[in-house]
Amino acid sequence: MNYYGYAGNILYVDLTNKTFKTEPLNQDLAKKFLGGWGINFKLAFDLLKPDTDPFSPDNPVILGAGPLVGTSVPGSAKICATAKFSLPAAADGRSYITSAISGSRRFGKMMKMAGFDHVVITGKADRPVYLKISDGSAEICDAGDLWGKRDIYATTDALMEKYGKCGVVAIGRAGENLCRFSMAVTDKKSTLGRAGLGAVMGSKNLKAIVARGSKDIPIADSTALKNLNRLIKDQFDARKDMTGEFNKTIWGVILENMNPGVWRKCDWDQLYGPNKWPGFRKDNACNSCWLACGSAMKIKAGKFSGAQSQTGPYLWAGVIGQKLELFDHEETVSLLSLMNKEGICVVTTSSMVDWITRRYTEGVITNEKTGGVALSRDLECYTALVEKIISRSGFGDTLAKGWFEASKWVGKDAETDYVEGSGITKGTDCIYPARAAKLDPMRFTMGISSPRGGHSCMGSFITSSPLVPLDFIKMSTLAMGVPEDAMDRIFTPADYYGPFNVARLTRHIEDYNSISNCLGLCLFYPSLQLISSELLPQLYSAVTGIQVNLQELKTAGERAYNLYKLLNTREGFTRSDDSFPKAWLSPLVTPDDIQILTDYYRMHIITEDDISKLLDDYYDERSWDITTGIPTEKKTDQLGLTD
Ligand code: SF4
Repeated sequence: MNYYGYAGNILYVDLTNKTFKTEPLNQDLAKKFLGGWGINFKLAFDLLKPDTDPFSPDNPVILGAGPLVGTSVPGSAKICATAKFSLPAAADGRSYITSAISGSRRFGKMMKMAGFDHVVITGKADRPVYLKISDGSAEICDAGDLWGKRDIYATTDALMEKYGKCGVVAIGRAGENLCRFSMAVTDKKSTLGRAGLGAVMGSKNLKAIVARGSKDIPIADSTALKNLNRLIKDQFDARKDMTGEFNKTIWGVILENMNPGVWRKCDWDQLYGPNKWPGFRKDNACNSCWLACGSAMKIKAGKFSGAQSQTGPYLWAGVIGQKLELFDHEETVSLLSLMNKEGICVVTTSSMVDWITRRYTEGVITNEKTGGVALSRDLECYTALVEKIISRSGFGDTLAKGWFEASKWVGKDAETDYVEGSGITKGTDCIYPARAAKLDPMRFTMGISSPRGGHSCMGSFITSSPLVPLDFIKMSTLAMGVPEDAMDRIFTPADYYGPFNVARLTRHIEDYNSISNCLGLCLFYPSLQLISSELLPQLYSAVTGIQVNLQELKTAGERAYNLYKLLNTREGFTRSDDSFPKAWLSPLVTPDDIQILTDYYRMHIITEDDISKLLDDYYDERSWDITTGIPTEKKTDQLGLTD
C-alpha cells in the first residue's frame, strides 16, 4: 500500500522490557483521524486505562507528526505529544489526558524521515536513557552522562553533535525531578507540554528522544503542491503589512491583549518592544515557516554573559519582564534562560513566583512558612525561588506540585486570590489573560471549554486581534465551512454577551483548528487566513492523494475533538470541572485603565451567570448533554465514535 504524505508506520517502544515493534499505519485510521493529534487521541484511548497515574509506566508518551509535516507547506512543522499530564487539574489530584503541540526545527520532519508517523513510548527504563529513532529502527541508549549533568540546550547540542542533522526532544532538571509543571523542549526552539510532560518523561527515566532519518516523504502530486504553495505565497505577499515583520505585528497584539497591567503601556513598549533589544534578539523560526514568531536572545558580555533563550516567542520576555517588574532586559533573559534550559513552564513558574513574592511583601506569607528565607521582588530572589522549585528543595518541593498544593501552603486559594495574574482554571494558569483582551473565542476555550484548561490555543482566530469588524468575523466564520443554521445561531445577538455568541462560535473554531493540529500545521497560518479554508483540503489531497472536501476535514476535526473530550470524560471530568478563572471577575486596576471582563466589543460586562449561559450554548452547539457536559450517544454515533 502506498502512503503518500504519511511515513506509514507506528513505532511502539517498551522501555521496561527494552523491546520495539512497528505496525503499519492503518489507512482507515488515517482517513478517520487524519494524523497528529487525531490519531494520537485514538492511540491514547486504546492504550490508556482509566485512572492511570501520570507517573505509572503504563502512561504512554505518544508522539505524532501529521501528514503535512516535513513537506514544503509553510508552517508544517508541528509535532504533538499526548499523555496523561502530571499537573493536577482538580483538587482531588486528577489530571487531564491531553495533547501538547510544539513547533520543531527538525524533529517532526526527521521522525517522518526515520519512517514513523507516531511513536508510542511505555514502560520505565531501569536507568537514565535516551531513545534514538533512525531509519526504520530504534535504540535505547545510556544517558548517564546527560541526566542531572546537562540542561536541555547542552543535551540537545551534545546529541546533535553526536548524530549530526537530527531532531531532539529533551527534558531538564525540572522533568528529572518530577516537577508537575515541567516541560520538554523540541530542538531548543519550542516548548512541549507545559502541564508536566517533562515529569512524565522523567518518570520513565527518559532524558531525550532523538530522531534522524534519510527516507523521502513521498508526495502524491508534487506539481499540485507547488502550485498551491505559490497561491499561499501570493496570499502571504498580499499581507506584507502583517507578515513582513511578524514579531512587530505580534507585539502590537500583545500590547493590547496581554498587558499584565503593572506598568503604563507606553513605558512597557519603550522597554520591551521588538526593536528595543540592542543587538541580542533575533527572529527564530520552525522548519518551513515564513513567519518566525520565535526569538533567540543571547547575552554575550557582562554580568549575565552566556544567558540565552532560544525557546518560544519573545513575548514572554515582555510579559514576564513587566509582571515581575524587571526593568532590565538582561535580567529577564537570565531568568528565561534558567527556566527554558531546565525545562520548567515559564508561564506557571513566573506567575507562582509573582504571587508568592507579592503575598510575602504583604505579610500573608511569613518567615515561619519560608523557613526563615526572606523574599523580595528582585532577580536574585526570583532566581532562588525558581531553583528551589526545579530542585524541589525546601518549600520549593510543595510549589513544584502545582497550584492546589501551593494554595494550601500559602493558606489562600490561588484561583480566587491571585487576581493580579491571568487567571487559573483546571489547575493551570491561562497563558493569555482575558480582562485585557476581553472574552473572545481564544479566552473562551482557554478559560472555560477546553479539557486542557489555561493553555489551549484552540480558539485561535481573527478575533485574537482586538475589535475586528463584525462583517469580517461573519465572512471568516462562513469561510470555515460553518453551515447556515449555525451561522444564524452564532450571529443572533445574546443579551448575556454581545452581537455574536462567543460560545457557539468557539465550538466551530475548535473543530476547524483541530484539522491543523491533525495535519501538523501551525495555527497561525489558517487563523490569520494565510492559508485559506479552500486550500486546506487541496493541500491534504495533493500531499496524500486522498480526496477530501472541507466538510469532511471539519468532521474529522470534530471527531478528534470529541474523542479528546471522551478521553477525559472517562477520567471522570464533567460539566462541574468546566469552571472558569474566578480572577476574571475582579476588575484589575492598571496605571492606564481598569481591566474588566467584557464581551469582545467591550459593550457588556460578563458575570458568572453569563458564563453559565454561554457554557449551556457551547454544549448545545456541540450536541453534548447540557447538564453533564458529556458528548451524547447521538453525537458519538454521528461521528463514528460509539464503539
Ligand atoms: S509561526 Fe512560530 S510556531 Fe508557527 S511555524 Fe512559525 S515559528 Fe513555528
